[in-house]
Amino acid sequence: MAFFVQKYGGTSVGSTERIKQVALRLAEYKAQGHELVVVVSAMSGETNRLISLAKEIQPDPNPRELDVVLSTGEQVTIGLLAMALHELGIKAKSYTGSQVKITTDGAHTKARILKIDEEPVRSDLAAGYVVIVAGFQGIDERGDITTLGRGGSDTTAVALAAALKADECQIYTDVDGIYTTDPRVVPEARKLDTITFEEMLEMASLGSKVLQIRSVELLVSTRSNSGVLSSFEKGEGTLITFEENKKMEQPIISGIAFNRDESKITVVGVPDHPGCLSDTGTGGGCQYWRGYDHPERWA
Ligand code: ADP
Ligand code: ASP
Ligand code: MG
Repeated sequence: MAFFVQKYGGTSVGSTERIKQVALRLAEYKAQGHELVVVVSAMSGETNRLISLAKEIQPDPNPRELDVVLSTGEQVTIGLLAMALHELGIKAKSYTGSQVKITTDGAHTKARILKIDEEPVRSDLAAGYVVIVAGFQGIDERGDITTLGRGGSDTTAVALAAALKADECQIYTDVDGIYTTDPRVVPEARKLDTITFEEMLEMASLGSKVLQIRSVELLVSTRSNSGVLSSFEKGEGTLITFEENKKMEQPIISGIAFNRDESKITVVGVPDHPGCLSDTGTGGGCQYWRGYDHPERWA
């Protein structure tokens, strides 16, 4: 018997049919005697829809009110998943971030988790419940609803796993593990059986959205065991590990990340000399940039 925190992302709970599938999977774990805390995201597309609604009313939405709106996405899925488990005869209880409670700072739309009150979760687990927690949200010291930034349900799951000292944090998503690069863009990408925290941190920071970067940072600081698995099919997934790869000839590059939100601008005709701001083109040579690297040229 083990204690797992499992997180199911937007596509994994993207329809009532998918929610029923997740409930069946949880029922299997429960039948094996495992204790379960389950973190869910909003249904896929829902958070984007809520942002669009807010922007139709206020082009630059008030962050406090935006968090009130955005947090509703996850509130729907926790309730529906609890009902799906009840239909299977399994005791389950849902909690919003403010009910748990997950206390954050007051930085709306990008809040950081400060502490988690484990007691309600622990007593429900002891009473045999599957505890379902809304991802991506918390409450600040003033009692205002906050959200943790896009992809923030990963961070909720890792934070809960660390606070509750779970045996493993399992991130269930729509791919069956971490690949050498995004398998939806490069079909030849290879699935990795293990990846070190450092490599995962680097991939997340360079734009690989399979895990929110803050969840990986939290994994590093709490040294929690974790894996990324598919919610659609059974398999081993990818284990995120602290173990160094002990092979003699290990690959220097383990993965490639990319980011679609950046563009490169090339400026041509700029003089190519260190310390040079512009070239007069009159044979007079370079104008030096205030001479930081050549103090003797200060006029
Ligand atoms: P969820 O809704 O479950 O949180 P996300 O869409 O946030 O899922 O993250 C899963 C997606 O991450 C995959 O569908 C895949 O397209 C993308 N992805 C980007 N880089 C990688 C990678 N190196 N390995 C696996 N998936 C990746
Ligand atoms: N629903 C939120 C988002 O779409 C959080 C998450 O899915 O992790 O960003
Ligand atoms: Mg995600």
